[in-house]
Amino acid sequence: MQTMSAEEDIKKRRFCQSSRSAKLCELLINRKDMFELPELPFSKDALGDWTSSETIDFHYGKHHAGYVKKLNLAVLGNEFEGQSLDEVIKGSRDRDTKVFNLAAQHFNHSFFWNCLAGESSKPEGELAEAIDRDFGSLEDFKNQFGVMALSHFGSGWVWIVQEEGKLAIRDYHDAESPAGTIAVPLLTLDVWEHAYYIDHRNDRGAFIEGFWNHVNWEWVGKQMI
Ligand code: MN
Repeated sequence: MQTMSAEEDIKKRRFCQSSRSAKLCELLINRKDMFELPELPFSKDALGDWTSSETIDFHYGKHHAGYVKKLNLAVLGNEFEGQSLDEVIKGSRDRDTKVFNLAAQHFNHSFFWNCLAGESSKPEGELAEAIDRDFGSLEDFKNQFGVMALSHFGSGWVWIVQEEGKLAIRDYHDAESPAGTIAVPLLTLDVWEHAYYIDHRNDRGAFIEGFWNHVNWEWVGKQMI
């Protein structure tokens, strides 16, 4: 097997940085430490009418996959190359918008898929206690979360985070994320239109309502510190 000379390597990297063809670059640079699209923790049709397999094909197969491909290109040959996702997010925040947006969107989507399941479980133990303590009840929590998700203007994410021992609901614009901040992410809902437009058209409210039938509370509880 021929090894790539340093000069060839540099040429290919330069080409990739100026190219828009992610596919070609993947063929050219066969790196082992590239970011990868994680497997979905459920089958493509597990979420029923709420998020159809068609939406999964686009949202996971095109949007999320696209962020991963572009992220791999965006970190080539700069300080972020070879860093963990966490390091890239922390290092690029407020410094490199392009890299930050791609890295944060990779994190946000990977987290989002893990929050979902075919059928919703119930919050238990410490998580259930914290929800009652900080929001009054699970119903009150869902209402507050729903109001924030519905009134969020434009694209973004709504999260429950744990900060200084308390739970809080937060909305973040565009790719912004609790990743790499002091807020510990527990649960998120993607409120970008690409998350719901195929199945719910402009009815974000129906998308939020149906979310509660598909929350994997067991996984959410495990994120608490
Ligand atoms: Mn999305």
